[in-house]
This record gives sequence, C-alpha cells and structure tokens, in this order.
Amino acid sequence: MSSARASLRHDTVRWDEAGVETVVDGVHRVALPLPEDGLKAVNVYVLEDSAGLTLIDGGWALTGAFEVLDTSLNQLGYCVGDLRDVMVTHIHRDHYTQAVWLRDRYRLRVLLGADERPGLEELRRIRTNLPTHAFDRLRSGGADGLLDELAAVDWPPYDPTVWKPPDVWLEDGDVVGRLEAVSTPGHTQGHLVFRDESRSLLFSGDHVLPHITPSIGFELGGGALPLKDYLESLHRVLRLPDCALLPAHGPVTDSVHDRVHDLLRHHEQRFDACLDVVASGSTAFDVATGLTWTRRERAFGELDAFNRMLAVCETVAHLDVLVDGGHLGVDEHDGVRRYGLGHA
Ligand SMILES: [Zn+2]
Repeated sequence: MSSARASLRHDTVRWDEAGVETVVDGVHRVALPLPEDGLKAVNVYVLEDSAGLTLIDGGWALTGAFEVLDTSLNQLGYCVGDLRDVMVTHIHRDHYTQAVWLRDRYRLRVLLGADERPGLEELRRIRTNLPTHAFDRLRSGGADGLLDELAAVDWPPYDPTVWKPPDVWLEDGDVVGRLEAVSTPGHTQGHLVFRDESRSLLFSGDHVLPHITPSIGFELGGGALPLKDYLESLHRVLRLPDCALLPAHGPVTDSVHDRVHDLLRHHEQRFDACLDVVASGSTAFDVATGLTWTRRERAFGELDAFNRMLAVCETVAHLDVLVDGGHLGVDEHDGVRRYGLGHA
C-alpha cells in the first residue's frame, strides 16, 4: 500500500486543463470540458490492462469532449476503439451521457450502478430535462417565487439518444478486473465508487470531491433522506483502508479519509447553522436565505436561480435529517412544510 502511494504523481498540471496526467503507471487522468459553469471540467480515468482499456466515467456528450478524449488516448498510444468498458459512477449527465454516445459508435460496454435504474426510468418516462422533483421540493419548501423564475428558464431539450440504459447494472461488491464497486448512495441513489485495492486508489466520482461538497437532495427518484444516506456513505468509505482520492472534479490527492473528515465536519456545521436560523414556522426557503453558500460564504441572493434551487434542495435535506433525529418538528399545510424547534 505504502509503495503505491509513494509513487503517486499528481498536480503536474492544473487539474482542469485538457490533457493527460499519469497518476500511477497504467492509470491516467483526463480532464474533459464542461459548459461554462462552476465545475469547470470532469475527470475521466483511463486504466490500462492486458485485456484492453477501462474508462472510469464517460464525460458529458458535448461538442469538443470526444475530441479531447480521442487526442488524450492517442497521446497514450491508443485509440477510442481500444476502450472495452466504461464504468460510470453515477447517472448525472456530466458522467453518463458520453458513455452512451461512445457505445453507439464503438464496441464497448457501459456499466452503471443498479440503484440508478429508477431515476433513469423516470427520466425516460417524463422525457424532459426540467428538474421536476426539485420543483416539487421548492413548492413544499415555500419557494414559489424561485419556482416561477425557473419555469421561465429555457431548459435544454431532452435527448433520448444519450439516456439509454447501460449494458450492465452493477451491484455493491461486484468486481470488474481490478475494480470493486462500492455502493455510496447520497449524491445520487445509485452512486458507486470504484476501489482498486491493489494500487490503493479510490475512483470517487462525485461522492468525495477535494474542493467542493456534492449537491444533495437534487435528483430524480431520490431517497427520502438523501443526506442521511450520504453521511452513512461517507462513513462507509472511512471503514475502508485509506487510499489516494481520484475524484471526478478537482485534483488527485493523497488521502480519501482526510477529505471525508472535512466533509463530515462541514455537514455538522451546516446542521448547527440550520438550527441557529430556523424559527417557529420557517420554511426551507426561509432557512436557505438565512445561510451563506459556497466556500466564499456568499449570500443566498447572490446565487443564480439554478444554484438557489440547489441551495433550497440542500436545505430541505439538512432540515429533514434534523427532523429524523428529533431536533426539529415539521408540519405541513396546503403542501408547504414548516419547521420549528421541538414541534412546529
Ligand atoms: Zn459531476
């Protein structure tokens, strides 16, 4: 274990620069472009072995993303036709859609967590990119004004060609080559991390990110208490031996556990902040407006409409865990949920 970690190479380039960074022999990080948003880029990882290439996450099927992948594989002495498996950590478009796009053009398999199935089936049924479940949470969260603002947004059209099912639905504990799938619900219900025990590497998808916290409470067909699931999934990763963090957004770092401790601390602080802000009869919207957001502690009103939606969903997730733990009460009237200390 120590020898694998000692030979880890990273920070050789800025993480979001297009191109190849070799992490250890046979494992390469490739940053693929995303549209202008806060995330900047998505990492996919190329794993070499005698049977062919495995890609961890596929990237977003966007103009330009395939070219970066193709050029990067060429730099390594391969081509896209050498890809055998694309193992996808979760269903979000920046991870999944290009995997399906590649499968339509090359002979490869797409593998995805089995618990993403309800979300994918729901998406294929409603055939829209509108985040309808988040809209439901905004309604019950008392955020009608924000809902009106979002309804006026020109959402990108639904593209059925990139939302086809995978070839393999992976279960917790499934082993593919060197990789073991570990179920880590929270960010999405079927999120997996992939563990390479022999090299002490964890491909963490969006479960553990080095610089940001993944959104919680914003997905189709999510669980009732996604933050409770997420915190349990952080503890699950702590119970595994520590290893290098190979995230989907941000640079490779030496320790998964160090970052998990930070994330657990962050959520404890958010619970305390929610309890400080909540007053008798507060909606999730009221609480969200009283909190600060992002690493820069920005006021709620400074965020754009999309991020205000994420903020309200995240606040619902925190408040509902506080209710579950008996720290808050909640009452629902006319479809709006109101929280309070003790019983609302
Ligand atoms: Zn992502």
